[in-house]
Amino acid sequence: AVQTEFHLTDMEMIRTVYRPRDPFAHKGTYGHALLVAGSYGKMGAAVLAARAVMRAGAGLLTVHIPRCGYEIMQTAFPEAMCETEELASHSAHFDEPFRLRRAPDYDVIGIGPGIGTDPSTAKAFERLLGHWQGPLVLDADALNILSKWPSLMPLVPKLSILTPHPKEFERLFGAAGDHFERLALLRAKAKEWQWYILLKGRFTAMACPDGSVFFNPTGNPGMATAGSGDVLTGILTGLLAQGYGPKAALILGAWLHGKAGDLAAAISPESLIASDIVDYLANAYAEIQ
Ligand code: AMP
Ligand code: MG
Repeated sequence: AVQTEFHLTDMEMIRTVYRPRDPFAHKGTYGHALLVAGSYGKMGAAVLAARAVMRAGAGLLTVHIPRCGYEIMQTAFPEAMCETEELASHSAHFDEPFRLRRAPDYDVIGIGPGIGTDPSTAKAFERLLGHWQGPLVLDADALNILSKWPSLMPLVPKLSILTPHPKEFERLFGAAGDHFERLALLRAKAKEWQWYILLKGRFTAMACPDGSVFFNPTGNPGMATAGSGDVLTGILTGLLAQGYGPKAALILGAWLHGKAGDLAAAISPESLIASDIVDYLANAYAEIQ
């Protein structure tokens, strides 16, 4: 067979990647995720991502949030444990210091949705990168922090997953003339930094450090709605927590996210909201056969 660098995800690939649950599993089997998300006025991003982590199948989840989000998270999503900043805060950023004492206990860290790009948040993010070499998902404001302070980029471990939408991608890596140029840039950056980079959109493109690119066929314009990407961050974090490798997590995660969106948009794409994508994740899993 001819080896090609470009792949389109199909059911056969999903079936190969998907790992059914072990009948003898306990919640430790499926890992402990840390999600760093939310800030004053943006706790919704944290709640959506948190729900997606658990719906994707993680065993345990701790959410790192500012103090002002504590009651919100515990009420909206009792399945998550919360870790808050030391100081009570209603500011739109994280107070220092990030409490990373327990970081080595986690199986994966997902960071970015709704955290803002305040300099103190960037400092805390820098400290996190200094303490963590394990699986990492960077999205939203974590990517915007990297764009604002590019000197942090070398601290992002190899094999991390970055999930920019086109605007975030442009801020990080610069503008491209057309789709083909952008695809070339995507592949070049994934190779250069040895990161997995998922560029969102219709046919989300996932570039791997080895130069291969996977395109995801599921999803629809109903998903062009607030919070949609935060759900994807949660799904990917939840899959990595369970022990999926980064490539498998990307292929399966993007597919599940789009499939859940397709099922949720079956009646009308206009009315789709990000929570629906989370609610339909179970149905998306059920489509694997
Ligand atoms: P974000 O911009 O971070 O909220 O992410 C939006 C999410 O929705 C990404 O996963 C996109 O791939 C998905 N999405 C948005 N618009 C479309 C579309 N027209 N077709 C398929 N997926 C889409
Ligand atoms: Mg986003």
